[in-house]
Amino acid sequence: MVQEGIIFNIQRFTIHDGPGVRTELFFKGCPLRCKWCGNPESFQKQIQLGVYRKKCISKNKCGACLEVCPQQDALQFYRGKLVAIDPTKCIGCHACYDACPAEAIKKWGESMTVEECMEIIRKDKGYYTRSGGGVTVSGGEALLHVDFILELFKACKAESIHTCFESTFHGKWEDLEKVLPYTDLFISDLKHMNPDIHKQYTGVSNELILENLTKFSKTGKEIILRIPVIPYVNEDEENIEATANFICNEMEGRVRTLQLLSFMRLGEEKYQSLNMEYQMEKVKINRISFQKKITGIANYFNNRGIHCLVGTKEKQ
Ligand code: SF4
Ligand code: SF4
Repeated sequence: MVQEGIIFNIQRFTIHDGPGVRTELFFKGCPLRCKWCGNPESFQKQIQLGVYRKKCISKNKCGACLEVCPQQDALQFYRGKLVAIDPTKCIGCHACYDACPAEAIKKWGESMTVEECMEIIRKDKGYYTRSGGGVTVSGGEALLHVDFILELFKACKAESIHTCFESTFHGKWEDLEKVLPYTDLFISDLKHMNPDIHKQYTGVSNELILENLTKFSKTGKEIILRIPVIPYVNEDEENIEATANFICNEMEGRVRTLQLLSFMRLGEEKYQSLNMEYQMEKVKINRISFQKKITGIANYFNNRGIHCLVGTKEKQ
């Protein structure tokens, strides 16, 4: 059977998730619901439609979506413009997406085969060689497509392409083990060390993640760890110290770099298009003092012997 994965974005020439110039594939579906996530289109595993109401021409002047929709109640209009698609009524035929002349309906996700992905990946092989780059899979949580990625990474390794797996590590250890032999580098987050606070802000406890990271450190593979530094959530001394203790005591020197990513307001329009609430709406920060705080956190980690950088660039 031909394996298919559901991918919502493919970025070529990206330089943030792994070394060198990379092609990055973003897979749909995620078991976490981080309140600050900038990619709400990654939450559901299935293909989804989003609505960009400002682009809608109006049902009186256009109405193409209404003409083709077999479930007319699914299309919700306000003052003549399409504002939402009711997921309880929509049957997912995507006819409205195909019919809309104004790109007011956006399709999040495409079912792709390994060979279709490889055709895109191969286009930039020269750049990977010159820059030490390769392919990165991300999400959502790419582990939800583990069998597909196994085949994809086997195909990459057969062509000597470097592979990087960005994962929440919230998944079955057996799934991580499957891809280990074909993955050159892993990337994961340490969002919070307290299981209750982790659950409050991401929807899941951190216990499985920490257990998998501890197991991972015994495999001999390298990992880049990241902390998305979120104001009033995980920037306090207690959490930073607990994070450093975990890295020093449990990760056995396998952490190549700890990267600190500063909170950014991202994805608000996408939340609106999917009829979802953006939960970081009220968070306001003074960018200069927040950056100073992050630099102070980086200094703390470096003083603890952990190679720590602000941002995603490997060499600074
Ligand atoms: S996907 Fe199909 S059923 Fe759903 S709103 Fe569009 S046309 Fe209607
Ligand atoms: S087809 Fe597109 S532009 Fe036309 S009414 Fe529907 S959403 Fe609006």
